[in-house]
Amino acid sequence: VQKATRQHTKEQNRILVLRTIFDRQNMSRAEIARITHLTRTTVSDIVSELIKEGLVREIGLGSSIGGKSPILLSLIDDSRCILSLDLAYNRFSGAVVNLRGQIKEYTTIPINDTNGEEALKVAYEILDQLIKSSKQTLVGIGIGAPGLINTQNGYIINAVNLDWQNLPLGSILTERYHLPVYVLNDCQAAAMGELIYGMQDQTVDNLIVIRAGHGIGAGIIINRKLFQGDNSGAGEIGHVVYMREGGLPCRCGNFGCLETLASVRAVLQRAQLMSETTFSEKSTPITLENLEQAFFAGDNAIRQIVLEAGRYLGMAVANLVGAYNIHHIIFTGEMTRFGEPWLDAIRETMGQYALPKLVQDTIVQIGRLGDKDVMLGASALMASSYQLLFTKN
Ligand SMILES: [Zn+2]
Repeated sequence: VQKATRQHTKEQNRILVLRTIFDRQNMSRAEIARITHLTRTTVSDIVSELIKEGLVREIGLGSSIGGKSPILLSLIDDSRCILSLDLAYNRFSGAVVNLRGQIKEYTTIPINDTNGEEALKVAYEILDQLIKSSKQTLVGIGIGAPGLINTQNGYIINAVNLDWQNLPLGSILTERYHLPVYVLNDCQAAAMGELIYGMQDQTVDNLIVIRAGHGIGAGIIINRKLFQGDNSGAGEIGHVVYMREGGLPCRCGNFGCLETLASVRAVLQRAQLMSETTFSEKSTPITLENLEQAFFAGDNAIRQIVLEAGRYLGMAVANLVGAYNIHHIIFTGEMTRFGEPWLDAIRETMGQYALPKLVQDTIVQIGRLGDKDVMLGASALMASSYQLLFTKN
């Protein structure tokens, strides 16, 4: 028992030292000892190991406060990398991401109408390609996937677009690549990405990230930790019904869900319906790019459709503000291309539907990571499991 405890403590100390170097660049051994409350000898021993394992290096001398100048230590950003996958509805993307969220390799494959076993093969193809071209030490696979996910056991419970039900994606990939795999909902991954790499203000502890794209979902961060709820399903706001009477059918089987009112699919469908009624004939399918152009050219009907979508999102935000009182709300996903006018519709409706006292300090803005948010979030979560970074022996 004693030996096990010692081993455990040693591991904890290693994590503590590594995290200290990770969080603050350019530290001396003495500073680490001061911050971690470990003895200088313990810190020295651990640092020697971390240098031997290639995770940390000495980068020169710091300024002295009397006496010998201390040697400064720094994390080697590329020493370990994470394979990261974003299984979006129309394309799968993958990246090799280093410990600081820098993308070293990137590849993407369209998956139009590909699903089931075929879609799984596309995921293999991306991972195979990345592993082949990567020169880095890869320590894990982080995945953001659409739909209901059980993060604990790596199961995709239900991803409608991909036709995946109860798919043990985590264990399938672990078996194939002999790496730990972490699967989470794409919106939850995006939230982690924006928290770690997207926020200018790194003192923000609570954050809600809403992805409004083909689908709609949210990731909720409380005290810098992802809040997943009892079933990993926290933030599934896209399938809450907002229009019971006369709502359009949703892919979940219900009618009038938020997704049928405020997603990319919803605005495209509405624009298409309108164009067919106006010109009373089957017109060519409207694309999101067409819609964006018409929107910014000031096309009144299109503006109404898009801003109406924004107003429904505003109601959803009002509910979240009421439930969580979280001051930072970030939007990501394809709908963000409609920019400030769309965001203003969201803000205005939020103001009408929630308590003014709660709304006045709430900042609603567009995320800074663009379409890399899911991949960066999935990799950030892997990288924060420091145990994975140590050399196994
Ligand atoms: Zn639905």
